[in-house]
Amino acid sequence: MRRAKILATLGPASNTQKNIESLIKVGLNAVRINMSHGTQEEHAETIKNARAAAKKLDKPLAVLVDLSGPKIRTGLLENAKPVMLENDAEFIITSQDIEGNAQKVSTNFKELPKLVAPKAKILLDDGAIELEVKKVSKTDVVTRVVNGGLLSERKGINLPNTKLPIASLTKKDRVDLEWAMEQSVDYIALSFVRRGEDCAEVKDLIKKLNRRELGRPLLVAKIEKAEAIENLTDILKNTDGVMVARGDLGVETSTELVPVYQKLIIESAVLNDKFVITATQMLQSMIENPRPTRAEASDVANAVWDGTDTVMLSAETATGKYPVEAVATMARIINSAETVKTTKLKRPVKFTEEPTGRTSQALCKAAAICAREILTDKIAVFTESGLMARRLSSVRSGLSTFALTSTDEVRNQLALIWGVEPLCHEEAKTTEAMLKDGEQTLLKAKVVEKGETIVMMAGRLSGLGLSSSVVVWTVGEDVPRK
Ligand code: PGA
Ligand code: MN
Repeated sequence: MRRAKILATLGPASNTQKNIESLIKVGLNAVRINMSHGTQEEHAETIKNARAAAKKLDKPLAVLVDLSGPKIRTGLLENAKPVMLENDAEFIITSQDIEGNAQKVSTNFKELPKLVAPKAKILLDDGAIELEVKKVSKTDVVTRVVNGGLLSERKGINLPNTKLPIASLTKKDRVDLEWAMEQSVDYIALSFVRRGEDCAEVKDLIKKLNRRELGRPLLVAKIEKAEAIENLTDILKNTDGVMVARGDLGVETSTELVPVYQKLIIESAVLNDKFVITATQMLQSMIENPRPTRAEASDVANAVWDGTDTVMLSAETATGKYPVEAVATMARIINSAETVKTTKLKRPVKFTEEPTGRTSQALCKAAAICAREILTDKIAVFTESGLMARRLSSVRSGLSTFALTSTDEVRNQLALIWGVEPLCHEEAKTTEAMLKDGEQTLLKAKVVEKGETIVMMAGRLSGLGLSSSVVVWTVGEDVPRK
């Protein structure tokens, strides 16, 4: 059983039902809908295709909607033709609506001239082009090209040393969030988060708009600004999970700090019981080639060893030439990384930390120790909202965790979580019936055999017979052993 999960961005190269089925067959666990491109209608169709593909193959599949956030972009170009910016040339970014050329381009961020000062650094296209501000007028930012290059339409603008007074949730994001809630997606990602407050606001909105009976869509805070690194503790308190958004993070801070921050973010997230996704350029060369570089294979493996829940693909699957190969390759790299026994993943249970005073922690740690002691590597957890399965995952016990839940929604959501295999099962009335039904579900899924002894547990939230319990259970016997 593979522990780390795969999230792939869908796009023209992959968004039909048939394509998504092919991706699921080679190991896909979750899909990402990127609201920075395309229309709501197109995305609704993609979500429909993803749900249909998962249903047909009877596999859990999580759907994540990634809100664009206040991404500042350059505007359209004459005849949509890329232009060459030469070193040392003058180049103007204007708030006026014009069709751009090699001298001048517009931006969607009309406040730009008000917020930058001479000497400020402006980066275009993920940092590929660097400009330095020379002077500013009411509508124009006049710059010198420090590092030239080819500029296409609608490329990102980053202002690494300028603090921008703009909210993480834009007007467009609000509209997209409401739409995503109607689509009943499993995760909502918020871009360019700066503080815990940004997350708290969106989490409240999600709770307000929630249509699910059990649980709700979970919030992912994308860590892609220096300010977010400064406020990481505060952000972790206010979100369900985070993304190491290495693309913008590398531009907003610096490339050499990305691996440092990746380690910091993953470790802090796991310690605080939050899930974490590692994203961007993981198999970048596979956009064009059927095989990855050795460095990319190492990068994916290292993210797994760092303890990430999920690794993400962007253009590799959205627009690349080899989407199926990219997912299959990622699955193979994870599988082989997970055979290595001498990593943090083998760290038995998080005992070194201060006690938290929380029942869920007590139960999860007890279950993990119990499993080790009776020499099983399997835990089944009854979870209604999915919360207890996520808590158990973040103990990183390395045990196979089967989450028994009664709704498809929770089953799909848990598909993204490290080490968890979600299974649907009928709700029962008594403890006895619940354990028996759970056993049947595990047998049917062929993950346990008769006579095998495993650990079963349920959290405080379980409204069923079994509550706050860790049970040693021998499959096929009538009475639990303990
Ligand atoms: P994006 O986020 O692909 O939406 O920009 C990921 C990143 O910045 O790495
Ligand atoms: Mn980004």
